[in-house]
Parts: sequence; C-alpha cells; structure tokens
Amino acid sequence: MISGQTPVRELGRIGKVTEKYLKALGIETCKDLIFYFPRRFDDFSVCVPIKDLKSNMIATVYGRIDMLVNRRLKKRRMTITEALVSDETGSIKVVWFNQSFIVKNLTVGDYVNLSGKTNDAYYDLQLVSPAYEKVNNDSSAIHTSRLVPVYSLPAGISQKQFRSLVHSALSHCTHDVREWMPEEVLQNEMLPGIQTALQDIHFPKDKEVFERALKRFKFEELFFLSMCARNVRNEFAKTPGYSIVFHEEITKMLLASLPFTLTAEQKKVLWEIIQNMEKPCPMNRLLEGDVGSGKTVVVALSMAQVAANGYQCVFMAPTEILACQHYATLCSLFKGGDVRIALLTAQYALKNEEENVDRKNLIQEIQLGAINIIIGTHALIQEKVRFHKLALAVIDEQHRFGVAQRKTLREKNSESVMPHLLSLTATPIPRSLALTVYGDLDISLIKKLPGGRKKIITKIVPHDYREWTYDFIKKQIKKCRQVFIICPLIDVSDTLGVKSVKEEYTRLSKTVFQGFKLGMLHGRMKAQEKEKVMSDMLEKRIDILVTTSVIEVGVDIPNASMILIEGAERFGLAQLHQLRGRVGRSTHQSYCFLLPTDDAKGELARLKAVVDSTDGFALAEKDLELRGQGDVFGARQSGLPQLKLASLSDFDLIQSTRRWAELYSDRMNEFPFLKKRIETMQGTVHLE
Ligand code: ADP
Ligand code: MG
Repeated sequence: MISGQTPVRELGRIGKVTEKYLKALGIETCKDLIFYFPRRFDDFSVCVPIKDLKSNMIATVYGRIDMLVNRRLKKRRMTITEALVSDETGSIKVVWFNQSFIVKNLTVGDYVNLSGKTNDAYYDLQLVSPAYEKVNNDSSAIHTSRLVPVYSLPAGISQKQFRSLVHSALSHCTHDVREWMPEEVLQNEMLPGIQTALQDIHFPKDKEVFERALKRFKFEELFFLSMCARNVRNEFAKTPGYSIVFHEEITKMLLASLPFTLTAEQKKVLWEIIQNMEKPCPMNRLLEGDVGSGKTVVVALSMAQVAANGYQCVFMAPTEILACQHYATLCSLFKGGDVRIALLTAQYALKNEEENVDRKNLIQEIQLGAINIIIGTHALIQEKVRFHKLALAVIDEQHRFGVAQRKTLREKNSESVMPHLLSLTATPIPRSLALTVYGDLDISLIKKLPGGRKKIITKIVPHDYREWTYDFIKKQIKKCRQVFIICPLIDVSDTLGVKSVKEEYTRLSKTVFQGFKLGMLHGRMKAQEKEKVMSDMLEKRIDILVTTSVIEVGVDIPNASMILIEGAERFGLAQLHQLRGRVGRSTHQSYCFLLPTDDAKGELARLKAVVDSTDGFALAEKDLELRGQGDVFGARQSGLPQLKLASLSDFDLIQSTRRWAELYSDRMNEFPFLKKRIETMQGTVHLE
C-alpha cells in the first residue's frame, strides 16, 4: 500500500539518478511530492477540431496517427520526427525535433492528444513539438488538453516524468493527508479542504478552482506565521519578569541635563517602554526609527529607570566601534550620577572613567551586580560573564532577539529570569510585516528626525556626469568632508558590468583620486580589519571609503557629507534610503548621488522614488510591492521566513489570517493536527 510516507522510488520506474535529483529538491516521500507545487501552467484547455486550427495558435487536438517517421537531417545533425494526425474534420502535420524516441512511444493507429502551438506559416499549417499523450476513454489526460502544471525542475528530470509521478502520488495518497485547518475557518473563508486543494493545485479543472486552492495554501502560510507569532506572545505573557517601578524624578533630572529636548515621538516611545517594563512579565519590543532619529537617548533613559530599581542592563551593538560610541554617549549622559557603566568587548574592558580595568575583575563585578549597565557587541552574551538581576537587554541594529539569544540571556541571569527585551532597528518595517513576521513584538515607532537637520540632496546622475561627480567629490574633500562610494559587488565581475569594490578601489586610487586617502571595506574582510577601517574613517585618516553596502549598518560618521552609489538600480529602495542615511548626520549640507548602470533606463522611475521621498516607510512599502520581500531586506534579513506562495503585500489576506490566529492561538489543544503542523513550522521559522 502506498501512503504519504512511501519513498518516491516505490511509485515505480525511478532510476537512481532521478531519485538523487528529487532528493535535491527535498522530495523523498510521496507526501513531499504532492507538496511540491507547480511553478506555472500551460493552458492547453482549448480543444479544437483540426479544421479550426489557425496559425500561431495554442491548442489541443485529438486524432488518430496516420503516419509516423523519423528523418535524419545529416547536414544539420538532427532528427525530425514527422507525423500526420487526423480527426473527422481534417488532418495536420506534426513535427518534433531530436525526439526520435517518440516513434517508440507512439504507433500508427494510436489515438492521441496533441497540445502545443501551430507554426505561423500561412501555408502548410503544422503543429510544432507539441506535448503528446495517448488517451483512452477511461483516463483523463494529464499532459495535454487541460491546464498542465509546469514545475521548477533541474535538467535531469522531464516535466512529463515528474508530472506523472505527482499524479500517481496524488491518486495513491491524497486520502492519507489529514485536514489541519479548523472547519470553521475553511467554511468562513470559503476555502477548499486539504484533499481538494492538493488535487486542484496540481491538476485543476479550470482556473477558478486553482485560484481557490492557491488561496487556501496562501492563507495557510500566513495563518501559520501569525500563529507562531501569537505563540511567542503568549509565552512571554506567561513568563515572570522584573517589574520596573517608574521614578519620574530621575527622568526629569536627566532630561534637564540633555543639550536638546526630546521630540514628541521620542517622549512617546520612552513612555511606551517605561509602561511596558512596569508589567510583571518581560517586554518584547522593537524600537523602530530612521537613522539619526535618536534611539540611543531613549535607550539611555529607559536604562536609567532600570538602574534606579537596582537592576542591571546590557546594551549590545553590532560592532566594537558602535559599542564604544554607545559607551561614550552613556558615560557623558550619566556623568556625575551614581550609575556604573562598563564596556566589555573583545578589545576593551573599561569602567566609568577608569582606564583599562582588569577583565576578570570586571566580569566579577558584573556578576556581583556592582555594574548597572554593560555595553558590548552582539557577542557579549557569548562571553563568560554572568549577570546579576539583568532586567533589560537592548540589541542595536537587529530586528529581534533570536530564540537562542533569549535562552542564553535567561540562563546567564541570576534566578534564570527573562529580562525585558528591546531591539533597535533603522529599517522601516511595512505594516504587513509588522502584522505577520514581527507579530510577536510590540512596536514603538519614531517617525520624524529631530529638527535642525538639512535635507540630503539626492540626485540621479547620468553617465556623462561621472567626471563632474568626481570633481564634486574633490570639492567636498577640500572642505574637509568625507565621502562614501558604494559598489554592488566585491569581486571583479565584468559580465554584469557592475562595479566591484576591489576593482573600483584600485582604479580610483591610481587615476582620478591619486594623492587622496582612499579606504576599502567589504563584508569578506575580517572583523578586525573592518574595525580598523571604520576607525580610520572616524578619525579622518580616510577621505574616500570605497565599500559595499556593509556600511548600511554602521557607525555615525558625522563628517561624511557625500555618498555616491554605483549601480544604484541594483539596490532596493529601502536599502538606498538606508545608505543615504549614512550622511546628513550633522549640520553640513549632504549629498546622495545615485549612479545607475548604463542600461538601467527602465529602473529610473523606481530610483526616482528615492529622490522624491525621505519617508523610509513609504519606500519600504513600495519596494515590497515592486520587488517582493526577499529583495527588500536582502541578505541581512536572511532570518525572514521565505513564503512560498503568499505575498506580504496581500494586506487583506494578512488581516484575516491574523484575526483567525488570534481566535485560535489559545485553542490549539482542540486541534492536534494544526498544533503539530505549527510546531513543525516553528522549528523551521524561528522568527529570528
Ligand atoms: P539612531 O536612532 O540612528 O541611533 P542616535 O541615537 O545615534 O540615532 O542619534 C543621532 C544624533 O541625534 C545623536 O548625536 C543624538 O545626540 C542626536 N539627538 C537625539 N535626539 C535628539 C533631539 N531630540 N534633538 C536633537 N538632537 C538629538
Ligand atoms: Mg543607532
């Protein structure tokens, strides 16, 4: 008996090689096979009598083979298979190229379906390389005369072979697949049951039933995603945490000591955080604000509350340099007070106003609770350090705490208590993502930058203006400013005509910018090398930094006033916006020049959006619409679950799946199949 768990090879006639190919596609069992959905369909559903065929028509005819021969064309070294097929209305010539085996599969007298395209000649109409299928009355066709599924397959497996396997697996084991969606959901949303949906996603009767099946699977994907998010939320709500009592006088005092006043939005998000931390269960929050929106001071003020309650905080940055910057910022903010701050990274062990302290001692002090705020890199939690009453963990430039990070924090904490978690990001997260992928987090938003910043002048630069642009850069450097030049790739890749960092660095150093101080930075350099380059940049030992988009997440270099982006069309809008945010961080007028590649004419309209808009959210949403999620967040967001079918721009579907997830997340025990399904998914998604 063939069931869902039966290995595909038992479906018959599968060689070792095919089996290997299938395995590479993740297909080992019959169930895997039926969950491998088609990429598209060939619409061969139009069946016509032979006499009604016209040139350049995609159609299916049904007829008897009258003649079938192979002809070898010696000159062109190919074999042509020719056939004549007739029905009651007429005959048509059929040709196939280099498929001589056809004469073994078909013979004169066979009744066949032929699906394909007629040639566009006015005379001598013929069907060219059509799909063929012998049909007898009792079996319906799967390769012809219908919507025929086409799969993404490696060259070694033919569509026909794969399609037959899927068909056979479906007929043997669809009944084996149990429904996991609650009946109520399916009925209300008018979605087909799993068995119907599986049948219709591969071999639909018409487009309509296919759409319904597709909608079911899309719904499912988004529903599961929402469910996973709800689960994490519920878990947090049940976990005990530290309640942080609000000390108003401390916030007031610190606010008075700032050289600026907080913007309305900074105040709002600070208040959200303070209120959240008062609760007896841990916060799980994302603080989202454009580069330069002033997230750090909000963090500092939140930490002041935690310290006043006698608890500890950690602040983790993506690089050593950023950690140092945060350390300096916090030290100066808390100057003269009794908050004790430490910096602990691979390179440094520093403590309030004291120079290099003994590392071991520092770690001990942290463990004893003598330090209120510990600043480090993201690797801080891998250190030997243990925390004492750690009540707030902040992670900079990361979208969330991963499952593993949360676990470690908890394990390293005294009493194994989960601290309040706050992630900071400058990436604008579109609403649809906030509802699904980030549905487990509460989100605090700073939309506007503090006043007093000059608008960054953004321009698309035509190619003829390259030299002019270089002169412009030289003028900036004469004014003691610094410049970023962004290239899309690291290595030489002439085929793409895309500037690579190494190539460009060498070229510019030897020609245009001879005599200037150039630096190079890319993702394949060692962490230490990168740090060195960034600190050189910070201390103005570099005029021009040629780099990939690694500087997207990065240090504040207020003196940088210009960013030139090569091959700009290769970046997403949100990413370009992010890159632009590297300049304009002080009072100097700053510039962002986008230099598209020669043949990027079609992309100019898209790039224009970056010129016209300074709203990161609008740009991210536009990007999501235009390019799909994978591109919006790029490699940096590799943790994002890859949706197979659903689209994160399908806002209506997202909202309804979310409503259902809210209804059902507490009732999982009533639906064991659903529960199992979501648990498997949670294992792979992680929501990191
Ligand atoms: P980001 O949100 O990108 O981390 P930062 O916290 O580094 O931004 O803040 C950028 C700069 O803006 C810092 O120099 C900070 O002192 C300054 N800043 C923060 N808040 C305000 C404000 N309300 N008014 C003026 N400047 C501010
Ligand atoms: Mg920051």
